[in-house]
Formats: sequence, C-alpha cells, structure tokens
Amino acid sequence: DLTDPRISSGRTAGARTRLTPDAVINLDHGDPTMFEAFWRENGDKSTIVIPGWQTMSYFSDVGNVCWFLEPEFAEEIKKLHRLVGNAETRGRHVVVGTGSTQLFQAALYALSPPEAAEPMSVVCAVPYYSSYPLITDFLKSGLYKWGGDACTFKSDTPYIEMVTSPNNPDGHIRQSVINMEGGKTVHDLAYYWPQYTPITEPADHDIMLFTVSKSTGHAGIRIGWALVKDSEVAKKMTKFIEVNTIGVSKDSQLRSANILRTVREGHEASLGGETDKFFDFGRRLMTERWNKLREVVKHSSIFSLPEFPLDYCNFVGDMCTSNPAFAWLKCEGEVKDCEALLKSHKILTRSGKNFGEDPKYVRISMLDRDEVFALFIERLSNIN
Ligand code: PMP
Repeated sequence: DLTDPRISSGRTAGARTRLTPDAVINLDHGDPTMFEAFWRENGDKSTIVIPGWQTMSYFSDVGNVCWFLEPEFAEEIKKLHRLVGNAETRGRHVVVGTGSTQLFQAALYALSPPEAAEPMSVVCAVPYYSSYPLITDFLKSGLYKWGGDACTFKSDTPYIEMVTSPNNPDGHIRQSVINMEGGKTVHDLAYYWPQYTPITEPADHDIMLFTVSKSTGHAGIRIGWALVKDSEVAKKMTKFIEVNTIGVSKDSQLRSANILRTVREGHEASLGGETDKFFDFGRRLMTERWNKLREVVKHSSIFSLPEFPLDYCNFVGDMCTSNPAFAWLKCEGEVKDCEALLKSHKILTRSGKNFGEDPKYVRISMLDRDEVFALFIERLSNIN
C-alpha cells in the first residue's frame, strides 16, 4: 500500500527523528506505526531467538495442504480468531502468504479457470482499495483483468468480487453487491478487528484474508493468512505461492505466532493489567484520534467525514462505533482537488481518483505515530 515510500514523515525507515515544524507529513500510505508504542512496552513477551541451525528447511508441515505453514502459527491464528470472535475457522484451511498482498494474487490465480477464452473480471464496489486494480493488471495476466466498479458490472461472464470489510478507504462495513451464477467472492477482512470496528459476528465466507499488518501493526514482517473453505482452492493458492516464492519466511511466521500469542494472552490473563491488552490500547487510541479529527471537521466549512452507526461489539461487550484506519475526507463546495489542497499545507494524502472516486475525496492514514498525527490535526485546523 505504498506509492513513494521514500517520502516518509520526517524520518528514515526504522529510525525516529524529530519532526521539524515545516516537515512534510506523509499520510498517503497506511503504515501502522501507531502500534509501536504498545509493542515498545509489551514487546519483550514476544521476543524470540532463532539459532543459526533453525528454520533451514523449505518445509514446515508436509502433511498439510499448505506445506510451508508453521503449525505453531496456524494454531495461534485459530486461537486469536476464537478469542476475538471475528472469523469462523472450523472446517477451514489456513494458507499463509507474504502479506495478504500475495494471498490476494494467489486467490485470483486459484479462482480463475485456466482454460477460459477471456480473462476473468476482478471487480469491487467504488471506492475500492487502490492496490486491487494495480496488482490485478500489473503483469497483464491472461487469467484475470481489472473490471472496475462492482456496482456497475453488467456482464453475464464469470467474475471475482473483492469485498473489503471494513472498507479501505471509507471504513464502511460491506457485503457483496453482485450475486450472479458463477461469481466468486474474496473477503478482505484486514480491518475486521476490535480497534477499528465492532465485532458483530464471526465472518463466515469462502475465502477470508487477514494480515498482521493491520491486526497487530507488524506490516514489516510481511505475513498474512487466508481462511479457505474449499480444499481445491486452498491447494491452488498454495501452488501459486510455491511457484511465486517457494513458500513464506519461517522466521516471520514464528515471530507472528509469538506476537499473536502475546495479544491473546494479554487479553486472557484475568490478573493482567490494562496495559497488556492490545485491542484496548488500539481502541482507546483510535477513539481519541477520531474524536480529535471530528472536532476539527465540525468547525470547518470545507471538510466532511463519513458517519458510522453504533453496533454491539461481542468482543468488547458493549455498544461501539467504528474508528477506521483511514479517514475518507471530503472537500465540500468549491474545492475540486482535495489532495492538492492538503499538499499545499504539507500533508500528503491519496486522492479519491485512486479508489475510483472523485478527487474531492482523499484517504488519510490514521495509523501514524502520535507526533505526526498531532501535526496533522494542527495543520488541518488551520485550513478554512
Ligand atoms: N488489503 C487491504 C484492504 C489493505 O488495506 C492492505 C494494506 N494496506 C492489504 C490488503 C495488504 O496488506 P499486507 O501488508 O498484508 O500485504
């Protein structure tokens, strides 16, 4: 989810440098550095040591459909979903990928008939995650091609519909919009976690994609997982990853297993303090940030934000609202190009154009570090 990673918010990768008052702040990508503060406090519990002789083999679990999946990681995935109640894992194959980005491509490969006369159309309702069209058409595959907005998809040919819920960029809960014979759906549930949205039911779909990038904030580990109902689809997704990268880093899977375990145990421990509970930390911070942003937008004559309903969150045990990972900000009135307006105030965002929408909209990351977010709020409040 990067455009130009070289432009970062006044820092070099991995290092923290002080923001100067005139620094350009980059909220164009969804780099989840906000969660670093939690892991700085709680990271020791998930520290692992991997001696030189370990993780040498290509293979992890030769009896499993996904033969490069570390069993310890698979177990932690299931336990965390059970704790949060956000996805059904029973009767599912777990397929691990180098980020959910690789799993998206594996799913397109697995769902496209190999001998079709025409490439399969890949569609998603506008506004859609900007990487879908980019990735789909990148290699000009004969198997699939980008078909645009699912809401205006008229063909009676087979298709793959991406259902992103909560949606990137606008944070809304979504369902599939086409229901035609021969159609396939892939549910991208990267943001279906309690820090972003009420968990109303365990998701129960044919292919569900998740990622540590958004669940725990570890985007740099590059690990995602798919929960897949159909064995043949799981086999084909595994085949894609085998041909693409001969599996997925074991070191990353072992780290991920320990990170998921740390999150789970922090919530399970009845004597554990509040600081151990990752989703509470995430929810608190996201709520604070959204409150600050809404306050600025309320006093502005230019900007507006989407509204979200209250819903009962089974995980929290209370009514909650959504606090999405991105703000889908609209410029009302005269301003035609919201991205350009914010850029002139040294705030880099991603134009609505990239999501199949009007340039009056921009997507703004809510997941950057505290100091960057504070500067963003300050600058936004000065635009009127
Ligand atoms: N799906 C959605 C909806 C996303 O927002 C992102 C990250 N921006 C991804 C997938 C990709 O995640 P990963 O880092 O696991 O490749």
